[in-house]
Amino acid sequence: MKNVIELKHPLIEHKLTLLRDEKTGTKEFRELIGEISTILCYEAMKDVKLKTVEIKTPIEKMKAKTLEEDKFAFVPILRAGMGMLDGVISAVPNAKIGHIGMYRDEETFEPVNYFFKVPKGIEKREVFLLDPMLATGGSALDAIELLKGKGVKKINFLCIIAAPEGLKAVTKKHPDVKIVCAHIDRELNKNKYICPGLGDAGDRIFGTK
Ligand code: URA
Repeated sequence: MKNVIELKHPLIEHKLTLLRDEKTGTKEFRELIGEISTILCYEAMKDVKLKTVEIKTPIEKMKAKTLEEDKFAFVPILRAGMGMLDGVISAVPNAKIGHIGMYRDEETFEPVNYFFKVPKGIEKREVFLLDPMLATGGSALDAIELLKGKGVKKINFLCIIAAPEGLKAVTKKHPDVKIVCAHIDRELNKNKYICPGLGDAGDRIFGTK
């Protein structure tokens, strides 16, 4: 699928196994989500433009490349996306942060938007949406539409695990959105959980079950 990147690396595979294991506790789960999110962020930003500045090393002057950190924003989809925030901020500490609140209606499985707050001037920034699980794609589609409605031109979607159903839904409607995931899993079950997946990411990050 064009514009979908799946990380393929033995260390990611190893960390995903730990993450998926039901015996993994909240502290370790949270740390693993953070570590993988940092790597997703590096991958998602591998084509960003740098500017040139002049610096002096202890040896000599040089022209060096630097990130224009004020050009980016991270937007976690609440609540599970919050688990990815520390990981991406460790890569780009000065990025601005927005929040999109969504919950899944337990009967219809449809996403319901209850909160939307993004930095002023978001339309001038490249946005990195964060949600560990791309399942049906419903929340991703709503979040992308909310951001595009604010004039955002460049959107990336970072997730830990993606279901083929969610990837198809998002790439069909928004082929311009780059999706970076650590793994593409098999399918959704009848309750719209990703299989084999890792269970409810929000509950595992926050220890709510
Ligand atoms: N959200 C989750 O947390 N897990 C899934 O498997 C699907 C959606």
